[in-house]
Amino acid sequence: MTALADLLTRFSQTHGTSGNEDAVRALVVREFQKLADDIQITTHGSVIGIRYATTPPRSKSRRAAASSDAPRLLVEAHIDEIGLVVTGIQDGFIRFDEIGYWDPRVLPSQNVLVHGRKTLPGVIGARPPHVLSASERKETLPLPELFIDVGMSDVRVRALVNIGDSITMDRQVTPLQNDFYSGKAFDDRAALVALLEFLRQLQNTPHAWDVYAVANVNEEDSALYLGALTSAFQIRPHVALCLDVTHAYQPGLAQDELARLGQGPCIARGANVHPFVFEKLRQAALSEAIPHHINVYGGDTETNAWMMQVAGEGIPTGLVEIPLRYMHTPVETLHLDDVARAAELVRVFATSLTREDALALHGETFVYGAQQTKNQKPKLPIRKKRR
Ligand SMILES: [Zn+2]
Repeated sequence: MTALADLLTRFSQTHGTSGNEDAVRALVVREFQKLADDIQITTHGSVIGIRYATTPPRSKSRRAAASSDAPRLLVEAHIDEIGLVVTGIQDGFIRFDEIGYWDPRVLPSQNVLVHGRKTLPGVIGARPPHVLSASERKETLPLPELFIDVGMSDVRVRALVNIGDSITMDRQVTPLQNDFYSGKAFDDRAALVALLEFLRQLQNTPHAWDVYAVANVNEEDSALYLGALTSAFQIRPHVALCLDVTHAYQPGLAQDELARLGQGPCIARGANVHPFVFEKLRQAALSEAIPHHINVYGGDTETNAWMMQVAGEGIPTGLVEIPLRYMHTPVETLHLDDVARAAELVRVFATSLTREDALALHGETFVYGAQQTKNQKPKLPIRKKRR
């Protein structure tokens, strides 16, 4: 298995619904420790890995590095996944609601994990077809009528499971043929893997901007994009880049405008994307002949890019997307090349940014050496890389 496939598998199979990202966060911190100069954790639990600019040459002393006056590029992916939450217990069966949004038709007969005092394997039950009337067979059961069976008595379940506990899909990654992979939570852990691969490639490449790689919490649970909004405010980057997934072509979806798996990442263009960032991304793709697709959005991209652009006094924001089939199901499917090429695209983009770009974007509000005054300096250096 390639290093990228291994990372994808580990991150996909780690569990963390919105607001319950502890396990994923721990894994991110471990990866950032190999790749970042500094690591910070925000109030809400997003993880920031900082890679300071190499030009002018990086100082040997960490203190000098920490007072970098280079412009800041934020590149992020979200680490939470859609899931379920316990709403009640009835005769030992667990009732639930959704975190993020599901098509209720895909839920019956899934294997799940109930994250109570102990993690319990369970199944979402379904009524046998024999007992259904002809009309009932055509109906979709709404979420409140579904339940999870963990094979325990009511008393035992109540001892181990509480209202509000989270539930995730119990799903291993399946390698399909030809570097296609299927699994849960590729939205957005595939983009997180691309983010890590980008950081790895950055180790050997000079870059004039400080790079803030951010693993954000709480994307799936509301249109507030809590993690992205608050970490962007904390970092105050001069450019922000969101990495997320997008719908790829599959039978039953409109064919013309959708990307195909294995044909490179998508670069978003539209009201949510700053024209400078789009153009710079497109030039990066063209300069290295990276296959790509342009996705047009008239309005909200329904990604972290939506709120990052309004953080602080406003941040020029871009969006790079990895094509994905069957989004928000436990069998999300992608092609590994698209993850690798998304990372490459971000690396070419990040290393192409010059100090003049910061000036062009921010004009007189960008003053060298005045970026890290007491008020503006990013706060909360909770964990530093051990050397
Ligand atoms: Zn999603």
